[in-house]
Amino acid sequence: MEKLIITAAVTGSLPTKKKTPYVPITPAEIIEAGVRCEQAGAAVIHVHARNPEDESPATEFRLFEEIYRGLRERTKLVVQISTGGRAGMAYEQRSERLTLAPEMASLTTGSVNFADSVYANSPQLIERLARDMKIHGIKPEMEIFDVSMIRSAVELAERGLAEPPLHFDFVMGLKGAIPATIENLVHLKNSIPPGATWTVAGVGAAQLVMNTHAILMGGHVRIGLEDNIYYRKGELAPNERFVERMAGLAAEFGREVATPEEARRIMHLKRSG
Ligand code: ZN
Repeated sequence: MEKLIITAAVTGSLPTKKKTPYVPITPAEIIEAGVRCEQAGAAVIHVHARNPEDESPATEFRLFEEIYRGLRERTKLVVQISTGGRAGMAYEQRSERLTLAPEMASLTTGSVNFADSVYANSPQLIERLARDMKIHGIKPEMEIFDVSMIRSAVELAERGLAEPPLHFDFVMGLKGAIPATIENLVHLKNSIPPGATWTVAGVGAAQLVMNTHAILMGGHVRIGLEDNIYYRKGELAPNERFVERMAGLAAEFGREVATPEEARRIMHLKRSG
């Protein structure tokens, strides 16, 4: 089986210091989390920025730039910048960060109803983000919240807006997204094109369960406080401990963990180091 790529989604948009003291908020904290996750076995870091004053999701370019430069300086991690946006964020606010030309960026290929808002990704927005990624040589990670979004991602490839083999991330167990069941995971895996790679991000308690299945099924895993803050019921933990757990499980199951350089090869990233 291919080596296991561990992606660390260290911050996201939602967890606050009040909910868990371990969530990194400032650029310095996010960079430090990246360093520790790399030491623990992560190959990819999924990056959001926060406004240090109030911890809200940030769109400011200088914050993304600071985080990106710091991670490039201090780690060999593949940096994957999120183009996700909360309700009301315009294309410009979600795309400017792509001019940093990170190796990867996330691209959600459809809209979702979150608990109390719409995560709106119109066909026009998706196409513009895909074009930007193509121009900057960025590999999209297709964020799949439901099966239909796979088809939309494949269509982008058919139209020349994304280069195969595609890479998918199945976001499972979020309210409004596909429920986190083994049957659904198998169906998602069987619905992607041959040669494509996939990872799974289970939300909340589904994180450990879905990741364990992914390790056994030949997929890859995403962990981190963006998706789940509890190591086990009632116990909070820093990002690197979740990475350590994945590396430990992979070892138990006889699967080796990929270095950042190996992850670049597995996902067919063009650049190295
Ligand atoms: Zn994210």
